[in-house]
Amino acid sequence: MRTEFSPAQLADPEVALSNAQIRKCVHCGFCTATCPTYVLLGDERDSPRGRIELIRAMLERGGAPTKAEVTHIDRCLSCLACVSACPSGVDYGQLIGHARVHVEANYRRPWSERLLRWAIPRVLTRPGRLKAGLALGRAVRRFEPWFARLRLGGLAALLRLVPETAKSPRGVGLYPAVEERRGRVILLQGCVEPAMAPQIREAAVRLLARAGFDVVLAAGEGCCGALSEHLGRAEEATAMARRNLRAWAAAGEVDAIVTTAAGCGTTLKAYGRVLGEAGAGPAAKARDILEFLADVGLPPIASPQAISVAYHAPCSLQHGQKVLAEPARLLGEAGFEVRAVPEGHLCCGSAGVYNILQPELATRLRDRKAANIARTQAQVVAAGNVGCMAQIAPALATPVVHPVELLDWATGGPRPQALDRLQSWAPSD
Ligand code: SF4
Ligand code: SF4
Repeated sequence: MRTEFSPAQLADPEVALSNAQIRKCVHCGFCTATCPTYVLLGDERDSPRGRIELIRAMLERGGAPTKAEVTHIDRCLSCLACVSACPSGVDYGQLIGHARVHVEANYRRPWSERLLRWAIPRVLTRPGRLKAGLALGRAVRRFEPWFARLRLGGLAALLRLVPETAKSPRGVGLYPAVEERRGRVILLQGCVEPAMAPQIREAAVRLLARAGFDVVLAAGEGCCGALSEHLGRAEEATAMARRNLRAWAAAGEVDAIVTTAAGCGTTLKAYGRVLGEAGAGPAAKARDILEFLADVGLPPIASPQAISVAYHAPCSLQHGQKVLAEPARLLGEAGFEVRAVPEGHLCCGSAGVYNILQPELATRLRDRKAANIARTQAQVVAAGNVGCMAQIAPALATPVVHPVELLDWATGGPRPQALDRLQSWAPSD
């Protein structure tokens, strides 16, 4: 694609990067069929190719973007399905990230959007506040239709994601390997996951320890920065990344920094781009837990369970990190019958905070995903990202768990509590 940035504009390294990516695009359109918003809306401006053209025009012109430009940029899920499809290697993630930062700096949104965008990182990235917010959400959930009528659709969407209960997971410290010690890993604690689904951390610690690894939950660690990045707040995201680097340095040498939330893993793996040399080492050690277990091997299977599992691949794992076959392979090794979800490349609508900021589109994508999952007729759904789990669970009668909960169970851990809902299966423990 032709660009006409001035030499002064190209002196900005971010503009120079975007210029290089835009020029790689050859307009072939291979990406359009894989783009969830284009599939739903059929508007070229809601396709990757259309957005690249729109981002080019917005950045070349500089200054305040138009309302239409902001609308089509906001509708992008950052799911990166287009990156997987693009034969020219366009780094669309860099482009949409740059576009969001430009919009955040140059566009004044309506008050309700500003309020929501101000509140999201202040609540979601602080587990204490999020826990209090979830308790409040449970109390006011019955008023959800009122919020929708008051044009606070984002808040109403948030209430739909509030879990019925939330316990506290284990805190910072060292959890030693069981039997033969093979190494030492940091397990990223995250911010949303421990409040929404604390059982995931519990299962992950047991599973890693059983696989022979000391597990460190590092003091001083916080949000990885993904949510701020989704909102175009680059400085806030960078400050969070720096805080994590300090916490990990204090925790000592480790073999890997393991994550159970695929969205966080994609952000961690980009720390080198964001923080330069200081971030490159930790980024190289970042591993999704399923990727890590595929490398080091599962602990011995103690309790194989012959139940069928629909594997939902989070976009951040399949498109962002290119972790493709490993999760289903591990579940198969553990004895589960894994079923592929039709249209598995399409996002479920969670996408960071998309389901809060774009509730109508997110709900359409969720319902499409739920219908595809139902077609598998599997007994359980496994999804390696708490955002996807919270997004799809309310639309399904099938229990939704994280794959580590199933792997923990098969290797000697407790049966996942969500499986209490499983009607046609007789528990063997
Ligand atoms: S990131 Fe996803 S929603 Fe955005 S343009 Fe690419 S495929 Fe479409
Ligand atoms: S597939 Fe790649 S090169 Fe082709 S239109 Fe999409 S972004 Fe451009």
